Formats: sequence, C-alpha cells, structure tokens
Amino acid sequence: MPKDEDQAERLARLAREAHERAEALDLAADGSEASDAHHHPAEAATDAEARERQLQAQLRLKEEEERLLRLAEAAERGEYGICVDCGGAIPAARLEIVPDAERCVSCQEAASGGRRR
Ligand SMILES: [Zn+2]
Repeated sequence: MPKDEDQAERLARLAREAHERAEALDLAADGSEASDAHHHPAEAATDAEARERQLQAQLRLKEEEERLLRLAEAAERGEYGICVDCGGAIPAARLEIVPDAERCVSCQEAASGGRRR
C-alpha cells in the first residue's frame, strides 16, 4: 500500500472492511439455518458452538470497526498515532502492522497485563 495514502481514508476503509466481514458472517449464519431440516443432536451442539464462535468473531469485528472509525476521526484532526494513555507518538512501524493501535507498545503491554492483544 502506498506510504502516502491518507491515514483517515485508510482507517475508514479498514473500518468498512471490518463491517463487511461482520455482515458476511451474518449471511453465512442465515444460510446454515436453512439446513435445520435435517436435525441431529450432535449437529445441534456443533451448530451452537459455531454460532458462539461466530458471535465472538462478530463482536470482535464490531469493536474493531468502532476503534477504526474513532481513529479515522482522530486522523482527520491530525491526532492519529498518538497513544491514548501517555500521549506519546506511536511508532509508524507499529501503526503499519497494527493500524488500530491506540496505545504505544509499553502502554499496550501495561493495559493488557503484559500480554499483547
Ligand atoms: Zn503510551
């Protein structure tokens, strides 16, 4: 991706992609409900687990989308890449890998109890 791509646009695009992935999961779930005609207790358990995983994935995508939208707004104000905890600059290399990083590495580690998310 081009280095000079406008950060706000990049973040808005990533937010849209997260939204679309969440919607795609919805569609997949609707499709599987059509096959409920052949019901089997073992399948039902698997279905429930699959549904649970799907909900978790959608929740994560929704959080990701919201974070990216917040960051897109911050980028428009010229505040993207600033750690929400210490106010320090988040290294560009980190933002390249984790576009939705809200904290610098040390604050992120402190926030997640030493684990990276
Ligand atoms: Zn920080």
